[in-house]
Amino acid sequence: MYMVLECSMPTRHSACRYVLYHKSLFGGDGMAIKYIPEPFRIKVVEPLKMLTFQEREKKIAEAHNNVFYLRSEDVYIDLLTDSGTNAMSQFQWAGVMQGDEAYAGASSYFKLMDAAKDVFNYDYIQPVHQGRAAEKVLLPLFLGEGKFAISNMFFDTTRAHVILAGARPIDCVVEAALDPAKRAPFKGNMDVEKLERLIKEHTPEKIGLVVMTITNNSAGGQPVSIQNIKETAAICGKYAIPFSIDAARYAENAYFIQRDEAGCQNKSIKEIVREIFSYADMFTMSAKKDAIVNMGGLLGVRDGQKYGGLIQEIKSRCIEFEGLYTYGGLAGRDLEALAIGVYEGLDNNYLRYRVGQMEYLASRLDDAGIAYQAPVGGHGVFLDARAMFPHIPYYEYPAQALCVELYKEAGIRCCDIGSFMLGNDPDTGEQLKADFEFSRLAIPRRVYTQAHLDVIADAVIEVSKRAKNIKRGYKITWEPQILRHFQAHLEPIA
Ligand SMILES: *Cc1c(COP(=O)(O)O)cnc(C)c1O
Repeated sequence: MYMVLECSMPTRHSACRYVLYHKSLFGGDGMAIKYIPEPFRIKVVEPLKMLTFQEREKKIAEAHNNVFYLRSEDVYIDLLTDSGTNAMSQFQWAGVMQGDEAYAGASSYFKLMDAAKDVFNYDYIQPVHQGRAAEKVLLPLFLGEGKFAISNMFFDTTRAHVILAGARPIDCVVEAALDPAKRAPFKGNMDVEKLERLIKEHTPEKIGLVVMTITNNSAGGQPVSIQNIKETAAICGKYAIPFSIDAARYAENAYFIQRDEAGCQNKSIKEIVREIFSYADMFTMSAKKDAIVNMGGLLGVRDGQKYGGLIQEIKSRCIEFEGLYTYGGLAGRDLEALAIGVYEGLDNNYLRYRVGQMEYLASRLDDAGIAYQAPVGGHGVFLDARAMFPHIPYYEYPAQALCVELYKEAGIRCCDIGSFMLGNDPDTGEQLKADFEFSRLAIPRRVYTQAHLDVIADAVIEVSKRAKNIKRGYKITWEPQILRHFQAHLEPIA
């Protein structure tokens, strides 16, 4: 896809403003470019080591074939996650120096309150140290033995906290999401008809919470439309079930809405974010994603009047697990960086470049005929390992096999979002079959350059050429009970 670029002079405090047109739509003069260039330049560099193929073969074997055991210094391009791996801006680093490290009532806390209340428009905001801390504080207040939680798709830590609270998670994503080759907008959506069916089947009293994950991480960073959020909220309202947003990628989701949803092209990202959040009762958020920080999370409650009791319980539980409610497990400097990051994530030029990175990678895979969750989502490219290794069954973890091969090929670290990550049935102990076998190439924010993207694409293409010679997958030789993929040991099947 070629685009035309016009670049106004950068002002002192704002990034260069690009005006991009699809050439096919507008024609016109200007420089034709193949990708959207970085709207920043580099001020601090972090050197990388490059091992040989043989050295990497040895490293991954020593790591029990589990990428979480690799040392980061042995990784050339780290696509394990986009969580907390982002590059902060000069403004955020300047904020770090202004962190107020007081135990109670720090000025950094009030800065964060002003920013987060402005962006999300909620009455109560609770900082926590990361997303799963928000889940640990909130979920047991709605879930327990005999209850269910329904989501478009639960992320792994959210699913774990539903189970830890004694309840059972149910995924309810639209059919289109389950077919990686089917190109449709908003493949992250909730299947609202199925949602209503599930509520009636289990009875509304047993549904403790409905959770909308934006973007839908496990389905490939696929966005959810405003229309779908509205419809889901209406069903929750009808049956008096609380509605929560798992909001890690609030800005990327809003960008897709602005780009693709009818009637949203003239709304700002901030307006769209506020509208999304206006339909929910509460949210949990890992700020390590779209708020572009290395550590942090938020929990929000929209209506302080209606949920006054809940807010009190959140504060108490936060004190038990995270620390006083004015710091929530974070240093004052983290609160400062987050107060700036929640705004930086909303910048249209930045979001266009970020999603442009995914689109560029995807276009290289298209040229090579390599399958991925299409169209590409917001924070990474999710390779369809089932398509690359059709001969490896889910219980031999084809996506994990692809991760190991990519590390050997080019020192790229990515992770399995498939049956290896999903784990065993909590009731029967049997290996579950995941809806997908994805190897996720998560792209950290503002970290890797265009040249890195080409290395990634070339490595995937190389592995795909030798895929048929990789006959078998992996078996687990040791695993913990919950969230096993972080720690399990694997062995290639001979
Ligand atoms: C990352 C993430 C979480 C958990 O957040 P942490 O900060 O890693 O604890 C929860 N939900 C979604 C959708 C996520 O992407």
